[in-house]
Amino acid sequence: MQPLTRTRAVRGPFDYRLTEEHGEVAVGSLLRVPFGAQRALGVVVELAETSTVHDGRLVEPEQVVGAGVGSDLVALAGWMAREYCSTPARALSLMLAPGAAAGTGARRVLVAQLTDAGQAALRDGSRLTAGQRALLGGLAEGGPAEAATLGTGALRRLERRGLVSLQRRARPRRPAGHAIGSASATPPPLTDEQDVALRALTGALGGGHAEFLLQGVTGSGKTEVYLGAVQAALDAGRTAIVLVPEIALTPQVLWRFRARFGDVVAVLHSALSLGARHDEWMRLRGGEARVCVGPRSAVFAPLADLGLIIVDEEHESSYKHEGDPRYDARHVARWRARQHGALLVAGSATPRPESVRAMPRLRLDRRIDHRPLPPVQVLDMRGFHQPLHPETRLALADLRRASGKAILLLNRRGWCNFLSCRACGRVWECPDCEVALVLHRSRMTRVPPTQRPDHARLDAESRTIRAARDSARQDAERAPGANAGPSNFVACHHCGHRERVPERCPACGSVSVARHGAGTERIEHELREALGSDPAHPFPIFRLDADSSALAGRARTLEAFGAAGAGVLVGTQMVAKGHDFPDVSLGLVLDADQTLRFPDFRAEERTFALITQLAGRTGRGPLPSRVLVQTLAPEARPIRYAVRHDADGFVADELIRREALAYPPFASLIRVVCSAAEEPLARETAEALAAQLADADALVLGPAPLFALRGRARHQLVLKATARQAAIDAVGHAVDRIAPGAARRGASVSVDVDPR
Ligand code: ADP
Ligand code: ZN
Ligand code: ZN
Repeated sequence: MQPLTRTRAVRGPFDYRLTEEHGEVAVGSLLRVPFGAQRALGVVVELAETSTVHDGRLVEPEQVVGAGVGSDLVALAGWMAREYCSTPARALSLMLAPGAAAGTGARRVLVAQLTDAGQAALRDGSRLTAGQRALLGGLAEGGPAEAATLGTGALRRLERRGLVSLQRRARPRRPAGHAIGSASATPPPLTDEQDVALRALTGALGGGHAEFLLQGVTGSGKTEVYLGAVQAALDAGRTAIVLVPEIALTPQVLWRFRARFGDVVAVLHSALSLGARHDEWMRLRGGEARVCVGPRSAVFAPLADLGLIIVDEEHESSYKHEGDPRYDARHVARWRARQHGALLVAGSATPRPESVRAMPRLRLDRRIDHRPLPPVQVLDMRGFHQPLHPETRLALADLRRASGKAILLLNRRGWCNFLSCRACGRVWECPDCEVALVLHRSRMTRVPPTQRPDHARLDAESRTIRAARDSARQDAERAPGANAGPSNFVACHHCGHRERVPERCPACGSVSVARHGAGTERIEHELREALGSDPAHPFPIFRLDADSSALAGRARTLEAFGAAGAGVLVGTQMVAKGHDFPDVSLGLVLDADQTLRFPDFRAEERTFALITQLAGRTGRGPLPSRVLVQTLAPEARPIRYAVRHDADGFVADELIRREALAYPPFASLIRVVCSAAEEPLARETAEALAAQLADADALVLGPAPLFALRGRARHQLVLKATARQAAIDAVGHAVDRIAPGAARRGASVSVDVDPR
């Protein structure tokens, strides 16, 4: 029995005594159990004839609750606990029916139905008011209907006379659909390349576990191959999971899968209401739905007879989960596929070096209809002090004249990325996080912190900002006083802290505050000023980023951009991901080297992927298209490869570099972060861990200080190991050994295997 407690100390499993009264209990059943003085939910992880506890005083569970999970997921949780230095309980909590702990169940609604007596009364018309006759007539014509829509009071009166019957029935909550981009119910004739790839997949489908990397340039029709593979899995009586990287992308992919397969497609993601998620989950568990589409957590979909798992855009870092256990959905997908003898298909135009090395490749080298990949032109921004290069402005003006569509990528939210005092150089920082505050000018009230804080990235940002202080006076935008405004505020992108825009510097009293860099808000504003003013030729500017709206709003923004005759979609990396709008003819990347400045071994890979993917959003229809890339580093390796659309060259180069530096896939990385309210405690904890790991078969780097986050000081260790499992186990044991000391109360340790 694995009670779903949260702490690492009470890890379990624990033994309970079953009796006849508990009815059918199997591995994966969900039970409510006494746990100390409390009640806890528990998942049965094993059934045994005798207890190894041997004291004969075993407690009995109270009852069987809810649907439970299959034994395959129980096994998966056990593996995840070890693989990610977590506990089976925490892993299981990711897999249970949504809302299981809160007691969420099926929604029941009152349904009214005409009785025989009602039929008769309707025929002879006796003793009925006009309203009652209309009500009964409606039920006679339209069949049973939801009582609430007809008036429950009136129906109750008719029920007492036996003229209608009222019954509670389950009615599943279904997620709303969004029609975005093109989708069709019947497959088009496949291209030769698609046909070859699909044959390879369907051929492998019944033959036990197999894996393929589908490397297809943007617009080559990878989704059509996925659809064909899912069809084959369904035809073989098996089920399929389709993972997409981004929650905002789910509606589009879902739309294409629903158009093809209808109601057997379910969707699971955290932006659905709990009720809808519960009902979709139950449809999957009950076998009514046989295809699950969703972001990383959909890898736990409760499907029996799993035959196929697809990981679309497999290069995306959002497959990595940032809560405990810090699992990687791609790694979990591989384990599940092995367990079920299923086919694993990872698709991308910019695959990870890890996948290129590990999986046989199928290729789609040409776009649909032999459309060319767009020419990519680099614009050197050195010496410019404006966010837009003159060439970019020209291209936008041309686009406006031609009523075309563009996508503009700038991977930075807000108005500008930091403020500094012109007189003394002070930078406005978050009081809790040691990072600069970002200026926002829109009227919105909510600035979400970065959803999955990427520590390496955060550290990089703070370092970039430190370095920038010195040059603050030269680079500052020349607009004194421009910070004033009723809705202006500065916000921390890591904890959500916000404050009013400063009027004067608290350090020296100067009123001259400089703003540095441009974010999506400012670019949106500039484009609107420059392009959007003529009512006779509407040229809307859409913005898509974590600030602009919640998920439903994002799906609507994409829907609106898709439907618009002309305009520009401005946004962060979200705009580069997988969208299929055939009429986009201009792609713009601003500050392309921004992602290169992170001290992270994936910085180059990310930069290459981002530019290539953005380029991939253009030229997907008959219009000639092109891409402009603004950068301060025109010679950077990923930018040169991206200009040539050379994914193979980039990966080959990258593998040589990774091997020389012992980075993945040639070694595994494990990151351990120790944090505490007081800096000495965080440091001491990290040092104690390092001492415990002195004999481990791995290279231990650090402890090294990180910038404080949410008021907690942090120190980290990084292990580079070729003996992966031994290193993971060594870290797990080391954490256990240093944890109990009362002296370290208040310190916390988080372990990240394969940090992104
Ligand atoms: P990718 O995921 O590789 O970037 P998509 O799967 O989005 O590409 O396909 C690009 C476009 O081409 C889509 O609009 C899709 O409907 C269309 N398409 C795919 N395969 C075919 C085909 N065989 N014939 C015609 N159109 C196709
Ligand atoms: Zn100052
Ligand atoms: Zn903060």
